[in-house]
Amino acid sequence: MQSADVVIIGGAAVGSATALFLRREGFKGRVVVVEKDSSYQWCATGRSVASVRRQFSTHENIELSTFGWQYFNRIKEEYGPEADISLVQRGYAIMASAEGAGILRANVALQQSLGADVELLAPEALNARFSWLNVEDLAGAGWGRSGEGWVDPHAHLALMRKRAIAEGVTYLADEVVGIDIERDAVAGVRLASGGGIATRTIVCAAGWHSRKVAAMAGIDLPVHPRKRYVFVIDCPTPIPGAGLMIDPSGVYFRPEGRYHITGVAPPEDEDPDAEDFDIEDGYFERLIWPTLAHRVPAFETLKVVNAWCCHYDLSTLDHNAILGPHPDVSGFLLACGFSGHGLQHSPGVGRAMAELIAHGHYRSIDLTRFGWARIAANAPLAEANVF
Ligand SMILES: Cc1cc2nc3c(=O)[nH]c(=O)nc-3n(C[C@H](O)[C@H](O)[C@H](O)COP(=O)(O)OP(=O)(O)OC[C@H]3O[C@@H](n4cnc5c(N)ncnc54)[C@H](O)[C@@H]3O)c2cc1C
Repeated sequence: MQSADVVIIGGAAVGSATALFLRREGFKGRVVVVEKDSSYQWCATGRSVASVRRQFSTHENIELSTFGWQYFNRIKEEYGPEADISLVQRGYAIMASAEGAGILRANVALQQSLGADVELLAPEALNARFSWLNVEDLAGAGWGRSGEGWVDPHAHLALMRKRAIAEGVTYLADEVVGIDIERDAVAGVRLASGGGIATRTIVCAAGWHSRKVAAMAGIDLPVHPRKRYVFVIDCPTPIPGAGLMIDPSGVYFRPEGRYHITGVAPPEDEDPDAEDFDIEDGYFERLIWPTLAHRVPAFETLKVVNAWCCHYDLSTLDHNAILGPHPDVSGFLLACGFSGHGLQHSPGVGRAMAELIAHGHYRSIDLTRFGWARIAANAPLAEANVF
């Protein structure tokens, strides 16, 4: 049986960032990334809206996004002049009704205190910036003046993976189907191909499959696969200057080339665990279009031209990631539960996991509050800005 110092289960954004940052942190041991789908067509990374915002309510999330944004902006320094992740700098506009105005103000104050270039726009200012937006029932919005936008997630993943391989990380096209535990400690993984890898350290970076992977180690992980649809819409009337606009209902849209993309999380009682990729008939007309047409009257004449589906790895306790060691299974580290904001956090989480493995503690951003202790205590650390 082969052996490795670290086995990372899942080689998409989070797994690949972890592998790469292990090298950045000077880790010299053998790192094996096991990835069951080298085409990456079914993972969240490949189907992500891949947008970056500072507008969170939890300070760790703001700091992770800040690092992510800086990382995405340094891509040419990191990977060379040809490297391109199609970065677009454009703010989020997170809108609030009168009911949500207090929370919006508190969130923006926290974001500003952490250096985020976010301003609070009153309805008149919002209307002056976006003349096509109906602001009559809004109390205002947080607007990211800079430091927010979106990237091409495939391009970013391809760069990280190629660099990690160049730095001696092994990518294995295989599926982890079992985890060996000896005396409450990780001893190895078993592979679908029949072999195995002996190891003392496993990182679970399996995205929306993480619950199943954790179960192989006897862990009941509160991270559930929840379907999310993205619709591509064509609107004959231009709506210039849109950022990533989020209605108080959670319906969002943003430009994508000559189109816009849009989506919304379903109500909680219509959000079962699911692993298929089918798109529910009538979802757009029922849960998205009425809100879009109310918020932007020009959208009344839009056409849906395409749609896709993938899954959030939803952390059902509090919509925050679950990171770091599990107290009952020594050597089993979690990096999952990103609940729809893991792409922007992948560089920061990769660095954090690498710090834990290479140095035994967080060095850059203290992510202790995202650890298992809150799960064990059933003490949510709720993130308010989830969409
Ligand atoms: C529709 C949608 C929109 C999103 N929009 C945004 C956004 O705007 N901004 C943002 O920051 N985030 C967004 N996200 C979330 C973000 O895409 C994810 O949080 C992030 O991509 C998760 O990366 P990951 O590497 O943890 O997981 P994934 O990308 O899901 O990758 C997990 C990998 O593990 C592999 N794997 C699983 N089990 C095994 C196994 N047993 N053996 C071997 N390999 C295994 C899978 O094949 C997969 O490649 C969105 C997600 C969705 C679904």
